[in-house]
Amino acid sequence: MTDTLTAVRTIPHVIAGGNIDDDARRSPVFNPATGEQTAEVVLADDARVAEAVAAASLAQKTWRATGLAKRSHVMFKLREIIEARSGELARIITAEHGKTVDDALGEVARGLENVEFCAGLMHHLKGDYAEQVARGIDVHQVRQPLGVVACITPFNFPAMVPLWMVTTAIAAGNAVILKPSERDPSAAVWLAEAFREAGLPDGVLNVVHGDKVAVDALLDHPDVKAISFVGSTPIAKYIYTRAAEQGKRVQALGGAKNHMVVMPDADLDAAADAAISAAYGSAGERCMAVSVLVVVGQVADPLIEKITQRMSRLVVGDGTDPASEMGPLITREARERVAGFVEGAAAEGANVVVDGRDHRFEGDGFFIGASLVDRVEPGMRVYDEEIFGPVLSVVRVDDYDAAVALINASRFANGVAVFTRDGKTARSFEFDIEVGMVGVNVPIPVPVGAFSFGGWKDSLFGDTHMYGPESFNFYTRRKVVTTRWPEPSESQIDLGFPTH
Ligand code: NAD
Repeated sequence: MTDTLTAVRTIPHVIAGGNIDDDARRSPVFNPATGEQTAEVVLADDARVAEAVAAASLAQKTWRATGLAKRSHVMFKLREIIEARSGELARIITAEHGKTVDDALGEVARGLENVEFCAGLMHHLKGDYAEQVARGIDVHQVRQPLGVVACITPFNFPAMVPLWMVTTAIAAGNAVILKPSERDPSAAVWLAEAFREAGLPDGVLNVVHGDKVAVDALLDHPDVKAISFVGSTPIAKYIYTRAAEQGKRVQALGGAKNHMVVMPDADLDAAADAAISAAYGSAGERCMAVSVLVVVGQVADPLIEKITQRMSRLVVGDGTDPASEMGPLITREARERVAGFVEGAAAEGANVVVDGRDHRFEGDGFFIGASLVDRVEPGMRVYDEEIFGPVLSVVRVDDYDAAVALINASRFANGVAVFTRDGKTARSFEFDIEVGMVGVNVPIPVPVGAFSFGGWKDSLFGDTHMYGPESFNFYTRRKVVTTRWPEPSESQIDLGFPTH
């Protein structure tokens, strides 16, 4: 009989340009649409992480001395490669994540935006200069890279989140250890190859697979100067605490519970379309997914009616089938967890209007249908916790103030949306709401590359957002140089503190 563990493909680390796959510890990788194991990924131990950090340290010395125009050229080339082969990358994502190929293409496109932004790296890395701050004295400030940085990424955007972190870190002159999710690690390996083809020297981008062992080794390694993390809130908090304790720069983006407020004056058809798209796209496995609909006033019943009608037409199936609008969840355990939330909601007194567990599927894929739960309230598990699946809760409130109070009391604060036709309400919402990213009649307010991405409260630990301009701040440190070219005759001893 064939040993299944030897029959499947092995996904290797990429260290100093070479593929390494002889680690003893491994983790299975599945196709969520079929439930079959398709590969195994090697898991790094401390020694493997140290090997990667050493390779990155060496490569970074040359990379930081590489001209900005040359670095920029790598970004342009990378953009060409990814764009030309985006279909291939999307299919790799779908095969391990389960999202539809269309959705995967969207993810690649959002990642590419950051590559485009980074192609202008010379502009982003420009320093400041002030002439004559005192007589004969000038001051200038430059941005220098940090050294080796680690990027630890979640399963739900296996290409986009790495492209947000890694591209900017490299553009800024750092070398990177990318530790992707062990559940869908192939996209990271593909990206490393694309960077290489684009002309990035070996060792500047290393992909190290692993679990907590590898992550802890990165957090503790003295030559890793900064940690970028995206994942769930408990792990984000842990990463932030442990890395910051060791003096590292950290940005750790956590989980979410995104609310969408529907005001009584909103276009209900547009709101229903938006709610369906944002709640069930990617099976709810998006950090910007809408998971709570906050319906203000008397429009709850007609809105729920419109959403329910649309849900009956939702096509759930294998992400490679062009007809599918929603794919499976990432693992069997995730499916069971989501089913548990729906079951628990009914037990806690909510009204399960559409029960995704009733949806029957052929085969062993990790599928569950979309659920809609009405009359949800804070204090119920279905409201308080991040579900990360296709479950949309409805909370009914009397007025605008109650909607804002509800959202501002949440510990999560990643994204939020308001649907209204009234500009004054929208403006007040923008002013009042304590959330990092706000959509006005836009259900998934993911900013574009020239802005930055990040939430507040338990959705982000650290002080810089990710992506765009703030990432260039995160991945560089400022050096301020004060210069004077005095005549020899001007030299004198002065023990006083310099004043101007
Ligand atoms: P996760 O927290 O389980 O894993 C994220 C990363 O941390 C992975 O690389 C994983 O290997 C590693 N990890 C897991 N457990 C660890 C541990 N105990 N110690 C050290 N490292 C560990 O998250 P996930 O399930 O891969 O991704 C989904 C989560 O990510 C959701 O909570 C989602 O909201 C969040 N997310 C947030 C954003 C955002 O922008 N705020 C974006 C995408 C995803």
